[in-house]
Amino acid sequence: MKENYDVIIVGARCAGSPTAMLLSRKGYRVLLLDRATFPSDTISTHVVQPRGVSALSRWGLLDRLIATGCPAIHTYSYDFGPFEISGSPGTDDSPVAYCPRRTVLDHLLVAGARESGVEIREGFHVDEVLTDQGRVTGIRGRTKDREPVTELARIVVGADGRNSLIAGVVKPEQYNEKPPLLAAYYSYWSGIPMNGRFETYIRPHRGFAAVQTHDDLTLVITGWPYSEFEENKKDVEGNYLKVLDLAPNFAARVRSGKRVAPISGAALPNFFRKPYGPGWALVGDAGYNKDPITAQGIADAFLDSERCTAAIDQALSGTQPFDTSMSQYQKSRDAHAFPMYEFTCQLASLEPPPQKVQQLFAAIPGNVKAMNRFAQMNAGTISPAEFMSPESIGEIIAAATKM
Ligand SMILES: Cc1cc2nc3c(=O)[nH]c(=O)nc-3n(C[C@H](O)[C@H](O)[C@H](O)COP(=O)(O)OP(=O)(O)OC[C@H]3O[C@@H](n4cnc5c(N)ncnc54)[C@H](O)[C@@H]3O)c2cc1C
Repeated sequence: MKENYDVIIVGARCAGSPTAMLLSRKGYRVLLLDRATFPSDTISTHVVQPRGVSALSRWGLLDRLIATGCPAIHTYSYDFGPFEISGSPGTDDSPVAYCPRRTVLDHLLVAGARESGVEIREGFHVDEVLTDQGRVTGIRGRTKDREPVTELARIVVGADGRNSLIAGVVKPEQYNEKPPLLAAYYSYWSGIPMNGRFETYIRPHRGFAAVQTHDDLTLVITGWPYSEFEENKKDVEGNYLKVLDLAPNFAARVRSGKRVAPISGAALPNFFRKPYGPGWALVGDAGYNKDPITAQGIADAFLDSERCTAAIDQALSGTQPFDTSMSQYQKSRDAHAFPMYEFTCQLASLEPPPQKVQQLFAAIPGNVKAMNRFAQMNAGTISPAEFMSPESIGEIIAAATKM
């Protein structure tokens, strides 16, 4: 059989739809498959960091998101108990974040792919990955009506999330692995205005946050160490509310609102996977997964899709051998992701930072530049390595001494 497509992509959310859209815009024949039918929700909170917003803008999709009535988030605040740091998370070009419902965001991404010429099949289960002499050649699956279908392509991309079927078949090298560190739970509340603020509270062995989304609803998220997962599972609602009580004013605001959805939760493993091999590639969570505490997954999936598209384009157009372009994709992904990955895993442990770091953070309040940079580090706008560089620390300490 001859392949009908240049690329088949399995998974049509934050990684799959943009990859399909960008490849189709470059003129490739792309088939995008997802077992979900859109609009579709998924277990995930959904802060899109400013660098993710910037990608939406590059793709011509930001105005559409804004038109859905999603409020902009211009300030990130971190309440450590004795002090608070509050700053702007973005850059001059992309100053704000958004927290769109996944029913809205993912649908918008799928529509963007469809309009760019991608053939999309929703409600399609991919059951098998086809190989020929060690090379991935296509997929076999079922349509909505359970019709069996086989499709072949030059490259099959797994954008199928952290439990990726494609990764399960090709078994890529997995590295920098860490077990689940945090159990995160969230729900939606009405009657808690946030006025463009993403508020985070840090307490011993606990973290919690609130941020506004569509329909005047506020997402309230709590987290405790994974070591307490089994015990706290016995009373998720009681434990969720008990965490909020660690910041009494915040708890009173939440309790004055009304919870309008069940509490959902997850605990995620942390890993990188080699994202390519003969006839296949991985993008988004399928290739690199981490705890959601720093809310990087969506922006990472967006940027990954741009890098992966560029690499696939080079390979399919014959500009570079597949292994060369894809190894550049892997290197660039890892170089960008690794400092934030380490920072994320450190935060997700919910262990207090070393004394010296605590002293540094305590020197930040009141210093507008440092507060903005702190918010930017947590947003992934600047690297933790940059924020924690000797010059940056020296500047913060010198300014605090003068104050
Ligand atoms: C509790 C929680 C909170 C989070 N909070 C945030 C946050 O605030 N901000 C942020 O940026 N990130 C957050 N994340 C991470 C974010 O959800 C992910 O990084 C993001 O969804 C990754 O997108 P993806 O497209 O790679 O994978 P997914 O969103 O997992 O999409 C994979 C798609 O593949 C499809 N699929 C899988 N297998 C098959 C198959 N065999 N056949 C057909 N289709 C298939 C699925 O139906 C799905 O639609 C959070 C995650 C969790 C769990």
